[in-house]
Amino acid sequence: MSTAEHQQRWEATLMRNYGTPPLALVGGRGCTVTDSDGNEYLDLIAGIAVSSLGHGHPALVKAVSDQVATLAHTSNLFINPPALALAERLVVLVGAPGARVFLANDGAAANEAAIKTVLRAQSPRRKFVAAENSFHGRTLGALALTGKPALREPFAPFGIDVTFVPYGDSDALAAAVDAETAAVFLEPTLGEAGVIQPPAGYLSAARDVCSTAGAALVLDEVQGGIGRTGKWFAHQHEGVVPDVVTVAKGLGGGLPVGACIGVGRFADALVKGDHGSTFGGNPVSCAAALAVIETIETEDLLTHVERLGAAWLQDLSSLGSPLVKGVRGRGLWLALVTADGAAPQVEAAARNRGFLVNATGPTAVRLAPPLVLSETEAKSFTAALPEILDDVARLSA
Ligand SMILES: *Cc1c(COP(=O)(O)O)cnc(C)c1O
Repeated sequence: MSTAEHQQRWEATLMRNYGTPPLALVGGRGCTVTDSDGNEYLDLIAGIAVSSLGHGHPALVKAVSDQVATLAHTSNLFINPPALALAERLVVLVGAPGARVFLANDGAAANEAAIKTVLRAQSPRRKFVAAENSFHGRTLGALALTGKPALREPFAPFGIDVTFVPYGDSDALAAAVDAETAAVFLEPTLGEAGVIQPPAGYLSAARDVCSTAGAALVLDEVQGGIGRTGKWFAHQHEGVVPDVVTVAKGLGGGLPVGACIGVGRFADALVKGDHGSTFGGNPVSCAAALAVIETIETEDLLTHVERLGAAWLQDLSSLGSPLVKGVRGRGLWLALVTADGAAPQVEAAARNRGFLVNATGPTAVRLAPPLVLSETEAKSFTAALPEILDDVARLSA
């Protein structure tokens, strides 16, 4: 069935919240995906920083197939060994002995667990501070903390008191946090806003502000965690120790799984009956996450991501074009900064030439490929970019 037929069926039945996607994807292998018309694309967005091992990685296929054939679901009424093993691994990766894990299904649910953890641990404090332009998810608690008015305001109020501060400004953060602040929620780099890194020292300053005021520092690593920047967690580049960390996207390599990790007294904040999820920690998703973590280790992907990301950033930055003003990011989490309004055109032109990238807004094209992207694959995009930008210039002339 053709792309056009898929789109007609989509428009007839799916809610209109996503608009109509430009392609239907029907297959994938490595870093390549295939659409319903038989065209192939180099996947440089990985389902929004999710398919960390690419498509059809043998370790992921085996882990998921074995587990689904062994036991697909237990619910939280019973222990399942993959969930146990995953929680143990996450505690080690966070590097905070005594940390505890709540397993969820996605990023928003991990952040909801973080909100409840903080409210329990910090009672009677009820106030939150978060960043302008941040993204924490679409459920009502996570949305209340999301610093994009267009997403948030149609659904307000939420019954959660949130003060928004400019991202990256530690003085503004210090001024907003007081003795009633339960927690500061921050992304270590703004992902949905277009891979915007804060100035060096910002997370450490946030740590100090929180410690001084007795507020919790919650780091939302849903997009940046699990190897995307060349470390297990993006905040590990700065050596800060958060009170709560959330992860999701890349953790399951495509299977839905998220986690909220509480450190120190935040490990023990939730008590029996406080929270739950029927599917959270399901054995298939946890087996997938364990395969992702093990493969990152056995293939030494953290080193690969750091090196390839740095080289790619440099190559992309050396392209002279009036349409691309610069490149930012770290590891395999980059953004081309475009002339205003050009990013969606670059996304479309790249797609026409066989590359899937993502315009996060009018001025940023996000690259978040599988962590297993090869140097040759990265270079193929760099080599095609001048033609892609020519296409854009021609079409808008
Ligand atoms: C994607 C994202 C979320 C929400 O994750 P979902 O799995 O879509 O619920 C939360 N925080 C950040 C930083 C994200 O990038």
